[in-house]
Amino acid sequence: MPFTSLGLVPELVRAVAEEGYERPTPIQQEAIPLALAGRDLIGSAQTGTGKTAAFILPILQRLARGGAARTLRALILVPTRELAEQVLQSARAYGRHIDLTAAAVYGGVGMEPQTRALKHGADIVVATPGRLLDHMERGHVDYSRLEVLVLDEADRMLDMGFAPDVRRILAALPDERQTMLFSATVSAEVDALARTALAGHASVEIGRRAQPADGIEHVIVAADKVRKRDVLARILQAKPAGQTLIFTRTKYGADKLATFLRREGIPANAIHGNKAQSHRQRTLAAFREGTADVLVATDIAARGIDVDGIRMVVNYDVPNDPEIYVHRVGRTARAGAQGLALTLISPDEWLLMGDIEKLIGRTFPREVIPGFEPSVPPLQPRAVAAEQPRPARSVRMRVGRGRR
Ligand code: AMP
Repeated sequence: MPFTSLGLVPELVRAVAEEGYERPTPIQQEAIPLALAGRDLIGSAQTGTGKTAAFILPILQRLARGGAARTLRALILVPTRELAEQVLQSARAYGRHIDLTAAAVYGGVGMEPQTRALKHGADIVVATPGRLLDHMERGHVDYSRLEVLVLDEADRMLDMGFAPDVRRILAALPDERQTMLFSATVSAEVDALARTALAGHASVEIGRRAQPADGIEHVIVAADKVRKRDVLARILQAKPAGQTLIFTRTKYGADKLATFLRREGIPANAIHGNKAQSHRQRTLAAFREGTADVLVATDIAARGIDVDGIRMVVNYDVPNDPEIYVHRVGRTARAGAQGLALTLISPDEWLLMGDIEKLIGRTFPREVIPGFEPSVPPLQPRAVAAEQPRPARSVRMRVGRGRR
């Protein structure tokens, strides 16, 4: 199905062609026609599925109909500043042939340019909840012409404790509006938020169960905990993969590992919430450009990193929650590319790995690096694959009429 059959205006079709997109992703095929029709929708889609374009393109088209008003008409709430920047860049890229303005509003940088954008500039505002509330309290925000609300990565916003902020923002918005909610997982909390935000009119629900992309090869390397960093250095030195994103559980762990890798001659940087915004931007730029193509990140910091062409994701610590594994490895093999997900596992982490294999419905090959054999041999896979065939990628739809 080509982009032209989704009902998009030529200016948008041209912009996506210039981005190099040949055809819409499944979520774009499902969501765009419904969003263009003004429906409310819930997209349960993980990062890397093309969900940003699925909501931005219909917003651009809807607002373009009325021409540039330079007043706030579409609000996109996101959990992190990185994601805010990224969604802003997408809005600008897809909207390059349309006369609309977009701005981002997030903490850690000055209020003043944001105030100006909120007061007289932006048709589309991408914001993190905390900073937006700050502006609201100072009287900088006028929602009287608001037409569209997007809650992006709703699960992550709730995980980060933004529920009260989001609810206060919702209470200030006009009832007559289109609302779209996107979330990688739809937990009871997300469901409850959706019920408030969408007034019970859930619409599209796509790919409910989080599954990693097909192009990812998963490998487990068994090593003792104290030797993990040496094993990782050996692997990176022996076979530089190109852009590599490494996950650690803690900020401290991220810094320590990046320092160790640099000492081993591997150009690595760490990114996490304690770093200044300018530092994060420099680090991301170096990663994108390939001057330092190894990035160590915590889960929250990595949420907003949108870099195509990440070749390898490394789980330095095995995540406690199998869904987090799916989020992490979703940073590679985006939009149909190939990628490698490498998990370093110490003897105490095998049970967690079993849960991950169970969720995904596959077992992964176990490897050891000669000279770094673990003191306890790798646990062999439970027979999960036989019991639980990998579910087909599900597409479920629940269509409602939206608010109006
Ligand atoms: P998202 O899920 O919105 O974070 O998008 C993931 C990546 O896929 C982004 O880097 C987009 O530029 C890219 N992308 C989005 N839609 C398409 C498409 N239809 N074809 C190819 N790439 C796409």
